[in-house]
Amino acid sequence: MNYYSTNRQAPIATLEKAVVKGLAEDRGLYMPEHIKSLPTSFFENIEKRSFQEIAYTVADAFFGEDVEADALRTIVYDTLAFDCPVVPVTDHIYSLELFHGPTLAFKDVGARFMARLLQYFIKKEASDKRPVNVLVATSGDTGSAVANGFLGVDGIHVYVLYPKGKVSEIQECQFTTLGQNITAIEVDGVFDDCQDLVKSAFMDKDINEHLRLTSANSINVARFLPQAFYYFNAYARMKERLSRKEMQQLVMCVPSGNFGNICSALFGRKMGLPFKRFIAANNANDIFYQYLQTGEYHPKASRQTIANAMDVGDPSNFARIYDLHHSNHQEITSYISGATYTDDQIRETMRTCFEANNYILDPHGACGYRALSEQLQEGEVGIFCETAHPAKFKETVESAIGVPVAIPDRLAAFMQGEKQSIPMLKDFPAFKEFLMNE
Ligand SMILES: *Cc1c(COP(=O)(O)O)cnc(C)c1O
Repeated sequence: MNYYSTNRQAPIATLEKAVVKGLAEDRGLYMPEHIKSLPTSFFENIEKRSFQEIAYTVADAFFGEDVEADALRTIVYDTLAFDCPVVPVTDHIYSLELFHGPTLAFKDVGARFMARLLQYFIKKEASDKRPVNVLVATSGDTGSAVANGFLGVDGIHVYVLYPKGKVSEIQECQFTTLGQNITAIEVDGVFDDCQDLVKSAFMDKDINEHLRLTSANSINVARFLPQAFYYFNAYARMKERLSRKEMQQLVMCVPSGNFGNICSALFGRKMGLPFKRFIAANNANDIFYQYLQTGEYHPKASRQTIANAMDVGDPSNFARIYDLHHSNHQEITSYISGATYTDDQIRETMRTCFEANNYILDPHGACGYRALSEQLQEGEVGIFCETAHPAKFKETVESAIGVPVAIPDRLAAFMQGEKQSIPMLKDFPAFKEFLMNE
């Protein structure tokens, strides 16, 4: 399968090129040239299949032309070493729990898949046996998902650059305690300085001659397409519970920031996944919400909120959603609606949901739950993505619900590990010297 750029000014790319480059030369996002529909028979018997079996069928539709069947199956099964269960919260609202992976957020799925696909391409390429170096700048969550996704993957070394003193303790320990093929670099600056160092390294001739570099940012096709796996599985698991009539009334609600997660759900729908409609739930960063209301897309500076992984003022994947719907506002609003919530509303929702249902939401999932509570119509059944474990936002959640949030063992284990990082100035020459000595 080939991939084109949403800006249509860059050459068509193979899957391997799209994965290694991440962003197209014209700064557009890569899109697959075809989206294969899955047969109705697949959906008729889907509840009889396991998560991994379903995911392999979906992966085959995306990547089957480019990756051998056995290798692809292994990549999918290794990626999904944890479950993404659907759990009832009220009698018509369900939580799709995406936090059972190593770093307790949905980004684990895409990061683990990408790491394994990249490894597959490296092994296949006989000409260049040097290890591949992944450079990733993080303001918190991306670094941990990428670092853990690549942890122990042969032939790949990951450098995580993060701003000193600007990430939470929980976030920091998730990428500084790993060791092995992961190096954490603590930059004396802000997130933008980290990002600038990474960009400068990609453009530097000497570094590129010395090291094979690649990026692993969230717009990479190998990170966003595999997220479709858990939407198909959610449908299958709901089919075990609901009547045929109810299955025609499923509403999927996705707390959204950069819109990669909902975009993979929309790809699922194009492949035939029979969700009735979708809701994109936003925090105070309401650019997409405003677009739905007015048909005009106006990026803004991002605003800081308690659902900080959704603090995005110019969502990259809007370009993909727009492209998928032939740049047509009416087509988009025909089955996607929006919602936007203030921090106070998010806190109130965490509290009321806990009091009424004894279910602890994280601040992101709270936006999704609230949008369903407000917008579900008679007869509809809603599923929202619980995108992170509430313990990742311990203080915020505890102050909203008034009871302690238990820390899962795998998170506690990170916090006991020894923090190791390399201090770095924010000036490029120091970073260049470091990389040239690697
Ligand atoms: C990244 C993230 C989001 C936003 O997902 P997008 O794909 O960027 O829309 C929501 N919640 C959590 C916990 C996240 O880490």
